[in-house]
Amino acid sequence: MSSSSRICAAVRSAVTRSTIFNNAAIRPIRAQTLTRPALAPFRMFTTRAPDTSPAEPVIQHRRPHVTFSDDEWRQRLTPEEFVVLRRGGTEPPGTGEYVKHTADGVYHCTGCDAPLYKSTTKFDSGCGWPAFYDAVPGAVTRREDRSHGMMRVEIRCSSCDGHLGHVFHGEGFPTPTDDRHCVNSVCLSFTPAKSTPK
Ligand SMILES: [Zn+2]
Repeated sequence: MSSSSRICAAVRSAVTRSTIFNNAAIRPIRAQTLTRPALAPFRMFTTRAPDTSPAEPVIQHRRPHVTFSDDEWRQRLTPEEFVVLRRGGTEPPGTGEYVKHTADGVYHCTGCDAPLYKSTTKFDSGCGWPAFYDAVPGAVTRREDRSHGMMRVEIRCSSCDGHLGHVFHGEGFPTPTDDRHCVNSVCLSFTPAKSTPK
């Protein structure tokens, strides 16, 4: 018998003695582990998988990139939508359709219909514009904005590059991210949950 074989035999002997003298309640677990070792990793994976699955269906970001000329945008949008989405304008606070809107569903881009925000991330910030603590993954692009003597972070639709508003961080809102996506209502088009495609 080689030295490695002697070591293995010694380990097997120790395991056997340990199993015999340990609490009977753990024996079935040991026996299962020893007789079905190949299944252990797979069983661990299938046990964990449900915990990592999202609670809600994942919304896929719509591509490709949507581009139109200014004249085409003017034809597709109302004058107010054009000023905000294509010229970086801001609607007056407290006037937007979705400031106090609380229904379940998804807010899409008025310009290109890409899904931008889920109602589950909307909260009442009291700022006068719709506020969300997070966007649909990949749907919103951030850009540094130094206009008006301020340093802000502008948010734009990733699909059509339409201006949406600004995002602020660290204001102390009790949300998972403490981000406030401050979005003009005119940039959003709401789709109720019942008619949201699965
Ligand atoms: Zn868009």
